[in-house]
Amino acid sequence: MAQFNDRLIFDTVTLPNGVVLHGKRWDVPFVDMRIIVPLGHAHCVNTILPGAAHLLEHCICHRSAKFPTERGFLDFLTEHGGHHDALTALMMSSYQAAIPSAHWRDAFAGLLCQVFEPVITEEIIGIERKTLGVERGRRARWYPGDNELDQYLATQWLIRKPVELRHLFGDDIDRTNASVESMYKVHRLYLTQGVHIFVGGSFDMGEALRMAGDLPPLASQKPPWHLEPIRWNRTEYHEKRFDDTARFEYFTEAIIGDLSLEEHTYGSILSSALGNFAWGTLYQWLRHERGLVYDIHIEANDEPMLAATWGLHIPLGLRQHVNLVRAELMDRIRATAFNDDMMLRVIRRRLATQAFDLQRIGDVMKTAIESVRRQGVIVTESRFHSALHALEEPSVRRDIFERLWGTAEFGEFLAIPASA
Ligand SMILES: [Zn+2]
Repeated sequence: MAQFNDRLIFDTVTLPNGVVLHGKRWDVPFVDMRIIVPLGHAHCVNTILPGAAHLLEHCICHRSAKFPTERGFLDFLTEHGGHHDALTALMMSSYQAAIPSAHWRDAFAGLLCQVFEPVITEEIIGIERKTLGVERGRRARWYPGDNELDQYLATQWLIRKPVELRHLFGDDIDRTNASVESMYKVHRLYLTQGVHIFVGGSFDMGEALRMAGDLPPLASQKPPWHLEPIRWNRTEYHEKRFDDTARFEYFTEAIIGDLSLEEHTYGSILSSALGNFAWGTLYQWLRHERGLVYDIHIEANDEPMLAATWGLHIPLGLRQHVNLVRAELMDRIRATAFNDDMMLRVIRRRLATQAFDLQRIGDVMKTAIESVRRQGVIVTESRFHSALHALEEPSVRRDIFERLWGTAEFGEFLAIPASA
């Protein structure tokens, strides 16, 4: 397995203060640095104001002890050709910066300081409570979806709303109640177990470790959080008209449960065997043999802390085509899962395309963070490789299919054009 250079092997060090630093030396003339802290929308419960994690993320990006002037850090980065980004997710917030290597020390110190020693004032909160209000306006109408159909699916069909809109943005009163004091109180939660720092490119690992080692020790207690589980509202087949639907949009989906790395990988192999444009069996059947569809979408979601879901979205032109699909679809999925030749070919292809993965340090960093977010550790390429190899064994595949896909309850829904 060690015949190739495993690009996901990082130098990972847990520092005495509890911070985990993942370093990746990569031959590029810049440094890519990312920090994740264990505070997100789902932590805005109990005494923490809804929207506070997100508001804090906005407020943090203004001033810090090292760059005390307004947007001083951002100016420094962009002045040298670098860039910066920040994001609040359900269970964490993340901050990232990149800069040519000559300036990496100041940039790394600046990023650490921004995240862990921000300067937050009444004035900054005043501005950001407004921008958050504007950002909310963009999401409010169809939350948690982006349009009427999306919203119906996520709230009336398979309920998929882990947090309320209020947890993302707060309401007017929550935002008015935010103060310098309450922001610093929420900020203290950044210094709890679960801080991961990723540094990639041309930099000095010893120095990065020293700088991250100077952060205050992390508290061992994690803040409370709440996520609404994914659950069914209505599984039996039903239909509904939508104004902006142009075709008969057929959906079928199931809650698959918590997936191990092998099971998760199996899901992507099965999806590929069914839905790949070139060789997928559903494409062969519905597009190349019958000419009934233009596109088929596999809907696979596996958010950490929430159950994985798996399904299909097939837009069709006529109602009788929907009936035809419904009559045969599940048998076709099963036949594909049990088609050993097909499954093996997809696995071998995936193994072969691994050569082209992760060509850039940005991809490596993104994959590493995603992996820590899901598994708590960086899953190496060799580990992924062995998960794929394990799936070459037909009995392993059959077992996963029967246990997870075979017993799952698939719900069905048809969106109909208003004109139909
Ligand atoms: Zn925002």
